[in-house]
Amino acid sequence: MTKETEADLTGVEARVSPKPAVDEIGGRKLKPATLMMGHGYDPALSEGALKPPIFLTSTFVFPNAAAGKRHFEGVTGKRPGGAEGLVYSRFNGPNQEILEDRLSIWEDAEDALAFSSGMSAIATLFLSMVKPGDTIVHSGPLYAATETLIARILGRFGVHWLDFPAGATREEIDAVLSKAASGNVALIYLESPANPTNALVDVEAVSASRDAIFTGANKPPIAIDNTFLGPLWHKPLRHGADLVVYSLTKYAGGHSDLVAGGVLGSKAHMDTIRLMRNTIGTICDPNTAWMLLRSLETLELRMSRAGENAAKVCAFLRDHSAVEKVGYLGFLEGGQDARQADIYRRHCNGAGSTFSLYLKGGEAEAFAFLDALKIAKLAVSLGGTETLASHPAAMTHLSVPDARKAALGITDNLVRISIGVEDADDLIADFSQALDAIGG
Ligand SMILES: *Cc1c(COP(=O)(O)O)cnc(C)c1O
Repeated sequence: MTKETEADLTGVEARVSPKPAVDEIGGRKLKPATLMMGHGYDPALSEGALKPPIFLTSTFVFPNAAAGKRHFEGVTGKRPGGAEGLVYSRFNGPNQEILEDRLSIWEDAEDALAFSSGMSAIATLFLSMVKPGDTIVHSGPLYAATETLIARILGRFGVHWLDFPAGATREEIDAVLSKAASGNVALIYLESPANPTNALVDVEAVSASRDAIFTGANKPPIAIDNTFLGPLWHKPLRHGADLVVYSLTKYAGGHSDLVAGGVLGSKAHMDTIRLMRNTIGTICDPNTAWMLLRSLETLELRMSRAGENAAKVCAFLRDHSAVEKVGYLGFLEGGQDARQADIYRRHCNGAGSTFSLYLKGGEAEAFAFLDALKIAKLAVSLGGTETLASHPAAMTHLSVPDARKAALGITDNLVRISIGVEDADDLIADFSQALDAIGG
């Protein structure tokens, strides 16, 4: 948030002059974990409050009429670069601006926007990019609501789509993009790792393929849903993506107590998305933005601990006699997994804490296991402080046709687990007794 903005807003003279937040010390660029405590907020402009107040206001006072006109020139896109100050809370507010500044830091993004949910972020992205007759090329599978949005909702407005499997090779991606290139490809949309298969997308190959097949103004941006591994373990802007999408409901929020979304990326694309958000009002509210600021302070702590816990739990589960297989990114090796292991090595610096557990048996065994859990909660979602377990075939993917379920490996013996920040040995004790309870 700019100084000018905050002064405009509060209209109060600061009673104290605390030191402003710094982003570097003696040429050393400070790390995200450090910057989350101060970046983008100046206590001097809010009566010295260490934490930003929650700004509950629907509108902002202009210093004079000419400034009001300039603001609207920015908001409406008449003048590039967006508004220079705050105008109206459907466009932005102080809490959301600080949140957006801090979100950008995690991926070195030029710009970021906050949304009322992951899905409203994705919908706003799509609406800002596509028109009737355009094609969206996407990796598959995608988050179920995203697939619905593309095929069933945008489809009603004459938008086409083509997909390639998440683990596709360069040649397979080339084939789909070449086919799509006969029409206007508005957007290449990826999700990695895919849910619930955990299949990783080769973002570098998609980017190289896009650059080989499309030139100049025809070149579609690459957007990727980075909810599962970002921002700690996967930074796709470094591998050729132009835009990164988040359900901030998951790891970023991290406490299973809010719903929000984010999009990060290059300024030019973000300006297009901002215009759409300004129009339809899919921004998150100030209270949620404040909660997310609190969450971001512990993001690295929480994700690191969850990741360490998951590694310990998966090592235990892999060796248990009631377990058929553990689909955990940290176990990718050679053989059948060689290609996925190669993508993992080039793109990721951590295996995350959400994985697939295939039990011996079917639905009865999976349900017996889930019902016996004492610490892990039986709920959909992921990325919270608490460990969650669910049954995709009977829950999140219940409406997926059987043939597609089989193709995606969504079997009746599959349990999805998101590991939290509890004590790892306590979690192992819980999984151990639940596995023992399967036999009845
Ligand atoms: C949860 C989720 C979404 C949707 O986010 P909401 O915040 O629930 O709207 C999108 N993509 C992925 C990968 C998700 O896990």
